Amino acid sequence: MPLDRFGRNIQYLRVSLTDKCNLRCVYCMPEDIVFRPNAELMQDDELVLLLRLFAELGFSKFRLTGGEPTIRANIVEIVRELRQMEGVRQIAMTTNGVLLGHLAQPLKEAGLDRVNISIDTLDPTKFRRITRWGKLDDVWNGILASEEAGLTPLKLNAVVVRGFNDDDVPSLAELTINRPWQFRFIEMMPFADVADFAQQQIVTDVEIRQIIEDALGPMELVDNGRLDGEARLYRLPGAQGTIGLISSVTEPFCASCNRARLTADGVLRLCLLKDKEVDLLTPLRQGATLEDLKQVILDGIWQKPWGHELGSNVIPLTRVMSQIGG
Ligand code: SAM
Ligand code: SF4
Repeated sequence: MPLDRFGRNIQYLRVSLTDKCNLRCVYCMPEDIVFRPNAELMQDDELVLLLRLFAELGFSKFRLTGGEPTIRANIVEIVRELRQMEGVRQIAMTTNGVLLGHLAQPLKEAGLDRVNISIDTLDPTKFRRITRWGKLDDVWNGILASEEAGLTPLKLNAVVVRGFNDDDVPSLAELTINRPWQFRFIEMMPFADVADFAQQQIVTDVEIRQIIEDALGPMELVDNGRLDGEARLYRLPGAQGTIGLISSVTEPFCASCNRARLTADGVLRLCLLKDKEVDLLTPLRQGATLEDLKQVILDGIWQKPWGHELGSNVIPLTRVMSQIGG
């Protein structure tokens, strides 16, 4: 199993299937973002080959993300191929849910286990303001279709943005009372072109928790505060579901980090908040052997960083979240 120099076992790969998206969330990308030409991104055969190498190296958990993963042509086929690889234990997807109304069932049949769906507000007008043109109904239909298809346990994500949806936190948290969902609130992180916005409008984990408890009463800590992935879980009194708080900025979870990222342009990104990267697609296209590529991956993983330096104003500059694979 791939190991880094701090002794962490890295076996979870988040794969960006595309840098493109059918929405333009204010915290994620500028409205006039220029996407990469397709020829510079991994083609299906290159993607499948690299995924196979990661699986052979001991990666067992895969999350498909982006950009918006559901807009990648052949997404169902890609999931099917991944499912058939030996050693692949879990396949999840992070998506804006817009296309899940018709894709949830075929994705489940192809072997997708579960989805995380982003939904920042239950107010259609605010949803349009945050996503710049999204329709809330599409996402809600996607959520219901995912549940019906069995892409469960369902997790929903909201990035909390001051002045945009901080007053929607209680109504989102309330969804967990009568449904067995995990609703995760994410601290906004600064990246490249959206860094200033993110730093000015951030709502911290402590504030988010206070907003929920002021409105809905004290929450109990679930599992003694043990992290579920990157989220610390809480439960509202009598609730069926749970609330997750993800404090990547104010309380990073580096000690339990077991993940690496493969960007849509075939680069191994070792930490979301650090620009350290290792190119895999160029050597692949230049004819590197599979053994060479595996060694490049292992050497890269060994160098995985620990800790961000946002406090010292060291901000990831090379890519926004959609280009990294959030
Ligand atoms: N398009 C899909 C979606 O929105 O779920 C997947 C890609 S998106 C980049 C993955 C996650 O990153 C989403 O939950 C999104 O809300 C989150 N995200 C995007 N920009 C962020 C930022 N600046 N800080 C924190 N989370 C962010
Ligand atoms: Fe698209 Fe997801 Fe970024 Fe929103 S957060 S712009 S849906 S990639």
